[in-house]
Amino acid sequence: MIALPMIQPKGLVASSGDFELFKGAVNRPSRKGVKVDHRCRSYHLYQYGEKVAVFVTGNMKIADSIIFDLPVKITCPGMTELCEAICYAAIEHLYPSVGKNRAMNYEFAQSRDFVAGTRFAIAGIIKHVKGLRRPETISRVRLHTAGDFFSTNYFAAWTRIIDSFPSLRFWAYTKSSAILDQYSKAVLSGLVAPVPSNLNLRFSVDPTTKEMPQEAYIPHAYLMPKGEEETISKREAKDLGFLYCPAIGSSVRCGDCNLCYATDYSIIFKEH
Ligand code: SF4
Repeated sequence: MIALPMIQPKGLVASSGDFELFKGAVNRPSRKGVKVDHRCRSYHLYQYGEKVAVFVTGNMKIADSIIFDLPVKITCPGMTELCEAICYAAIEHLYPSVGKNRAMNYEFAQSRDFVAGTRFAIAGIIKHVKGLRRPETISRVRLHTAGDFFSTNYFAAWTRIIDSFPSLRFWAYTKSSAILDQYSKAVLSGLVAPVPSNLNLRFSVDPTTKEMPQEAYIPHAYLMPKGEEETISKREAKDLGFLYCPAIGSSVRCGDCNLCYATDYSIIFKEH
């Protein structure tokens, strides 16, 4: 008897257990594929059968977002004394698999395939989430809940990726002042395009910040250390162009707030 081939929904090639392969094939050499891990709401990008990057879809606070993370500290050229001491994202020693994924992303981010692979992964994740018919769809991409822009080339690569998704909002906080300056100089020399308007970028500062970007003004994210609360009222902060993040110590989610990706306000985050 001849076995009939199973008809798969468009774009869905095969499935196995918790993993669902929805484009390409990972068990035989293929150029690119993305697999979803439903348990971890993460998507794994494969190239030629090898896993090369991991993207995560949201958490309690940012449910409708794709997140791309890097290892902490080694990708943070603008790390300050305070952020080194209290880095919230330094959990790699507690969760080795997180460390492994971030290290893999770092390697991928330095590869020639980074731009094309990331575009492919984001487009695939959006298509897949739409097919799940969840209440939320992907509308935002958060760069670096861990890590930072570690080189000008890497920053430029993201601007190219961001430019190809005009209907998505991207947002990031950075302390990489030298990289922002180098990129601004390259824009003025006509070597690269200006930062796309769908990227909301904030420069992160705290009382131990030594280097500020010289070439470009961008809104700030101020990490207010413990003990400094109440030194500036909400009203005074607003007059200076700052708003307090309402999520600290409350149930507010980013999707209800939108300050980070829909406004140019500088934002104060209290240390917690
Ligand atoms: S300010 Fe709003 S969007 Fe930004 S982190 Fe806080 S809750 Fe989220």
